[in-house]
Amino acid sequence: MKQKINGKTKVLGLIGNPVEHTISPLIHNTLSEKLCKDYVYVPFKVNRGNLSKAIEGAKALNVTGLNVTVPYKEEVITELIEVSLFAKQIGAVNTLKYTDDGYVGYNTDAEGLHKSLLNNDIVINNNDIVIIGAGGAAKAVGILCGSENANSITIVNRTKEKAQNLANNIKKYYNVKTNVLGIDEIDRISSFDIAFQTTPIGMSPNTEHNPIIEEEFYKKFHTAVDLIYNPYKTKFLLKAQENGIKILNGFEMLYYQGVRAYEIWNDIEIKQDILEDVKNQIIDSINLDI
Ligand code: NAP
Repeated sequence: MKQKINGKTKVLGLIGNPVEHTISPLIHNTLSEKLCKDYVYVPFKVNRGNLSKAIEGAKALNVTGLNVTVPYKEEVITELIEVSLFAKQIGAVNTLKYTDDGYVGYNTDAEGLHKSLLNNDIVINNNDIVIIGAGGAAKAVGILCGSENANSITIVNRTKEKAQNLANNIKKYYNVKTNVLGIDEIDRISSFDIAFQTTPIGMSPNTEHNPIIEEEFYKKFHTAVDLIYNPYKTKFLLKAQENGIKILNGFEMLYYQGVRAYEIWNDIEIKQDILEDVKNQIIDSINLDI
């Protein structure tokens, strides 16, 4: 790292467990270098039972901003003085900003996904959406689809009850038609517009797996988004591409949720040309097999 740490350097970081495989330090330290900001971003592994102490310690140490990852995105809410509207609706926080009174929480996953969709000319408004999976990531996708006025949202999940909970949560905030199916009922779906694959199925090293193997499914929609970015094209995306469907992976979502957090910490809006440069630098350094 070219950046030099000195007495004025401010600290940013990530709390979670595990944190060893994160690329967030690369994203944030590259942004700091590019923008000549005197910050250093470090991962902090927080053991179960230590979340409260970690937040209190970070506050005492004037840590300017934190990202929060698994398994603390929900639990951390009780440690905060305030949460943003998206974070409240999603029920999870992934970004904390220091204030003298305590940390304020945000969820930049939905905003990161939105920016990545806009960059790739994918529009949710008025479209019929299928979300595969109903975990943490699906919650952000669902709220984004609600807020962007999707025509309908169908949630398909192994545990149908969790899909129903997600649908109920979306409807609590947005007036959108929702349907819920078990993953074994996927053949009941008629034609729609955009599929969001939000399960970890197909993620490296299990790249041969695909949550949807039914051939017919791939004849029913025009755009496939997989939140996984390693591999760059999952089996799900490859299958979609074979069927002439437009595809997008989760790399830009990950990158832009980080960018959005950085903008919140610094109260700035980073110019698109800088964002493109940093994005390409990151793609080069993690050696993604594009
Ligand atoms: P999660 O909360 O654990 O949810 C996992 C979901 O996948 C659940 O709906 C689960 O179904 C389903 N699932 C898991 N294994 C399954 C299997 N073998 N068969 C059928 N369904 C299965 O995980 P998450 O936090 O949402 O993350 C999911 C994926 O999104 C991960 O690959 C993660 O890396 C990715 N992600 C990417 C970004 C990004 O910025 N690109 C951001 C967040 C997450 P049940 O409800 O039945 O258990």
